Amino acid sequence: MDIATWIGLGTGLGTLVTAIIGLRFVGRQLREQQRTLRAELGNLYIERYWQIDDDLLLERKGSKRHRQHRHRYLRLFEDEFDVAKLGFLDPEQWRAWHGVLSDEGARELIRDDLRVCDPKGDSFRRLRACITQRERDGADHDVRHCEGNYAE
Ligand SMILES: [Zn+2]
Repeated sequence: MDIATWIGLGTGLGTLVTAIIGLRFVGRQLREQQRTLRAELGNLYIERYWQIDDDLLLERKGSKRHRQHRHRYLRLFEDEFDVAKLGFLDPEQWRAWHGVLSDEGARELIRDDLRVCDPKGDSFRRLRACITQRERDGADHDVRHCEGNYAE
């Protein structure tokens, strides 16, 4: 091999190393952006949850406004299923929120909300699939195997 070939190989190797370092840097930036997006969405959902919870406390149970807030809560939960499926929620946070439904009392409240707010049963498909799975297989299941992930 002559000197020109060696220089060419050295240049090519240098370019490859630079490209690898650049890709690692871009990969790190993308992971950081994803972490930031997940944190922002998580905070948004937490804020919305407390807003709905506060609104529920201010309305008389059984009133039209109370029912509307219950519907908002169901919509929030269904949205969380959608966003989690897309990978836009922190997995640990979603695991904790999804785990709320392991509690029979929480499931009973959700079932009641569904009966009142969606009597036809044609909305909130992910939430319904999760609850149906829990009733069939036991109260708890791993969020990664939740049938709500596959409902459309
Ligand atoms: Zn589930």
